[in-house]
Amino acid sequence: MTHAATAADLESLLLTRSLDDPELAAATERIPDTPVLPDVSVVKVGGQSFVDRGRAAVFPLVEELLEARAAHRLLIGTGGGTRARHAYALAAELGLPTGVLSSVGNAVAGQNATMLGYLMAKHGVPVVSGGGFEALPLYLSESRAAIFAGMPPYAMWQPLPDEGVIPPYRTDAGCYLVAETYGCKNMIFVKDEDGLYTANPKTDPSATLIPQISAEELIERDLPDLIVERPVLDLLRRARHVRSIQIVNGLVPGNLTRALAGEHVGTIITAGGAR
Ligand code: ADP
Ligand code: MG
Repeated sequence: MTHAATAADLESLLLTRSLDDPELAAATERIPDTPVLPDVSVVKVGGQSFVDRGRAAVFPLVEELLEARAAHRLLIGTGGGTRARHAYALAAELGLPTGVLSSVGNAVAGQNATMLGYLMAKHGVPVVSGGGFEALPLYLSESRAAIFAGMPPYAMWQPLPDEGVIPPYRTDAGCYLVAETYGCKNMIFVKDEDGLYTANPKTDPSATLIPQISAEELIERDLPDLIVERPVLDLLRRARHVRSIQIVNGLVPGNLTRALAGEHVGTIITAGGAR
């Protein structure tokens, strides 16, 4: 079949084949995608890398986010950070499963979303979760921004890690999945380093900045440590909408604004290949 799949093709394949059938997958692939919120930018505000730094880091960024609303509609996701790591350590030491750690991580990212929400409340920016996501179009047209907890709410359905009990899909992956599912314009991670380095610059002074790289190449390089969760790279390779992510140092005023305007600040990781 080389022609575009039709509803009739899909229906007959769906009724007669297994849902894992490759021809069925290929037929669904040929249907054009419908971006849901194509003009919205998703911004992740780091937990450990950003919110945990308190007022000095958070207040200027809040101002920058509020000003950015004049030109952009924003979905702002939050990380968990040090409190989530503390809770993971306790839960892991207690021998609790990944699904419990996932719920705990979600609660901490929720605390950061709540705090950011109170800071932005007087500007009409709401915090959304669960069913609230269904009202996003209204919130985004009313106040041009909304805040959410970045942890994907997998709870006990969290995919299991190869080893140990730490949930592999945490707030970087959660924010990316929101951007990809809604077919958003871009995905910007606000952290405390200038981008992706060849190693963690906090522990390796010889680390150098990588301004741009494909997800595939990054997976191949198998760096000892990354500035984004590794599963984000797999998600990016399979992306239908958000084919690149950008990582910026939010401690430098103006960086986020420049990234939102399409400038190459920080690191851009591309999906690579064609789709
Ligand atoms: P978040 O607060 O969004 O969860 P993390 O603290 O998990 O962010 O990740 C950001 C941190 O990752 C940076 O502060 C940096 O110290 C560390 N890091 C580890 N590996 C790298 C790397 N290869 N390049 C840049 N930063 C890295
Ligand atoms: Mg992190």
